[in-house]
Formats: sequence, C-alpha cells, structure tokens
Amino acid sequence: MKTQRPTIAERAADRICPECGGPAERRSARGPAPTFCSQECRKAHGNRHIVEGRAVIAFLKAWRIDRGSGEIAKESLAEVCSIVDSFNAADREAGRPRADLYAAKLLAEGTRYMDRQKRR
Ligand SMILES: [Zn+2]
Repeated sequence: MKTQRPTIAERAADRICPECGGPAERRSARGPAPTFCSQECRKAHGNRHIVEGRAVIAFLKAWRIDRGSGEIAKESLAEVCSIVDSFNAADREAGRPRADLYAAKLLAEGTRYMDRQKRR
C-alpha cells in the first residue's frame, strides 16, 4: 500500500509551532493565525536557518548552475544531501517537528521568495 502524504494545505493547517511542536494558536480573535508559538521560537528557528543555510548554499548554487551535470555539480548535490540529512536528524533528536511543516506553511502563504523580497 502506498503511503498517502499530506497536501500543502493539509500540512500547513496544523497549528503546531515549527520550532517546539507546541500549539501555535491565536491569542486574539483578530489577525492571522501565528506560525510560531512565541517570539523566542520564531527567533530560534530563524537563527538556525541562517546557520544551516550557510552550510549548504555554495553547494546548492554550484549544483544548480550546471543543472546537476559534471563532477562539481554531482559532488555538490551529494554534499547537500549529506548535510541536510544531518540537519533533519538533529531536528528529530531535538524533538522538533519535521521540516515539511514549516515548508508547507511558507508554500501555503502563496507568496514566493521573490515576492517576499519585493515587499521590503
Ligand atoms: Zn514554539
């Protein structure tokens, strides 16, 4: 039997903090539902993403330039996979929710990275 994975909308609707796994619920009736349970969790999540992003960005860019062909691109992808596997393992060990939760929340916003940059 094939495992049914949740859609973006289904996963994004989970009112779970992507950092601590606790409830991320509205504190008042107005405004959008919060992504994180607290400012501390938002900050911790963002800071870890800065560090993790720094570790993989050069390899991702090198891989993408040659669309995965050639020695550098292939080794870069292998390195990215190895690094990201260790990040996901660290999330599991720390009891953090899977990274697909936060990714789904970003994707469900309907605003892509390029659009978010323009808003600043
Ligand atoms: Zn939290």
